[in-house]
Parts: sequence; structure tokens; C-alpha cells
Amino acid sequence: MKCFVCGSEMKGYFRKKMLPEMPEWEYVRCENCGLVLCQTVYEMSDREWKQINDGCGEKFGHDEDPDDPRWVERLNCQAKLFAGLADQGVWEPEMRFVDYGCGDGKLADYVQNELNVSKTGMSSSHKLLKYEKFIRPEGENDFLRDEDMKPGSFDMVVSCSVFEHLLGRPDVDEIIGLLNDKGTLCMHTLVCEEVPQDPDWFYLLGGHCTLWTNKSMALLFEQYGFAGCAYHVEGRMWFFFKDRQRFEQLRSKAPSIPGEWVFSDKFVDYWKQKPYR
Ligand SMILES: [Zn+2]
Repeated sequence: MKCFVCGSEMKGYFRKKMLPEMPEWEYVRCENCGLVLCQTVYEMSDREWKQINDGCGEKFGHDEDPDDPRWVERLNCQAKLFAGLADQGVWEPEMRFVDYGCGDGKLADYVQNELNVSKTGMSSSHKLLKYEKFIRPEGENDFLRDEDMKPGSFDMVVSCSVFEHLLGRPDVDEIIGLLNDKGTLCMHTLVCEEVPQDPDWFYLLGGHCTLWTNKSMALLFEQYGFAGCAYHVEGRMWFFFKDRQRFEQLRSKAPSIPGEWVFSDKFVDYWKQKPYR
């Protein structure tokens, strides 16, 4: 198997018993960029993968339990972060902005609440749209449909706990391809210096089939032509800018947005040492 990020050879890294009724799952690692993939999942048919996900219910596909207070804490922090971007004019009202893989849409709801209570009160026309490809809630909702997700049609895309679920280049293309040529990707996933060679690592949940390293993410950042990167530490959120001016704008406004920021022309490789979270 070849690494879909850099094209190098991938070698066996460890095996893990994920489900009692199935043989151990095989994880492979890229010798060059350190990306780790669950080869077993990559080689399954879509149907088999869907059956496993459906059969394992809610918890299997998500990285954290929605009842976990840390998850809600992070979501609240991210909501305040986006409200800050709106207040500082980095997120403008007319921008088309979607939360891709929004689950039940909680982040967008939290953002709306933050905007409503924001001091300036100027943010009511901002809207974070919702899109969920896989686990859609039942009944009436305000989610975008598949046909609304046209390539190049968004100014900003949130990808929160999505990248660890992707299955190769076409999935990455789909998300990053939603951005127009001045767009910004707002991404939360776990990116580490080296994926531990440990089948008991906490992050190895069944749905996490693509495990990112600083090097693999830095390559991806270059491959898609991003021109600047910001990382918000408390929100655990990276911003990949296609537009250098927008990047500079955030850099100048960031002191007015609570939290610690790191800026770089390249991917911000923040998580160098264990523990990675
Ligand atoms: Zn690689």
C-alpha cells in the first residue's frame, strides 16, 4: 500500500483487535511522512464499512462521547473563537461558511448563541451553515443538501473531528475542494509528531482510520496551495488560508480574540511532544 499523501511505501506498524467477531485490524505507517492508516478499513467495501458503523451505533463513529464534559468545553471554546472572528471582521457576514460533518449541528448552534450575546451585537447576519454527509438527524432540519455542496462555493469550511475518519485522497479533495480560491479551512483533528506504535493508544477508536503527523499534514498544506497557517491552542483549531491577505488580517486582529495563537507560513506543527492531548 502506498501513502496517499506522499506516495511512499507503507509498512505494517501494529495490529489491534477492534471487534470480537472480526480478525485483528492492520495499521500501516508511511516510511517517509509517518501517516498511519488502518489498512483493514481502507480495503473494506463501502457496504461492509457502513454495516460495521451502523452496527456499532453512535459511539463507534465519534471520537468522543457527547456527554464528555471536555467535548462540550472544547465546542464552547470553538464557538467563542468563531464569534471572535466575526467581531474582528475576519469572518464577514456575506461569507458562505459551512460546518462540514456537523453531526447534530451543535457547533453551529453554539456559534449562533455566542453571536447573539456578543458585545457589539453586529454579528446577527453571520451564519454558520450545517452539513452532515453520514449521520443526519431525522425529520425537519436546516442542513444543506448534497447538491448544495458545490466545489469552490465556500469562503470558509469547518472540519471538526473529520480528518481522522477520511479514507484517502478523494475524501480530502472533496472537503478542501469546497473552498474557493480565497477560502479558509478551519480544521480540528489530532496531529502529532509520531503516531505511537501502540494498539492501546487512546485515539485508536474504530472510526479513526487515518492518523495524521506533522509531516503528513505539512505536505498536505503545501499540496493544496495554502498561503498561511494559524493555530488557536485552546480551541485546538487550525486555520489554513488560501488568501495571504486574510491570513495577515487574522494575524493583526488575533490579539483581540481570546486565547493563544501561533502563526506560520507553513503548517503549524504545534504538538511535538507526548502526551499529544
Ligand atoms: Zn507519506
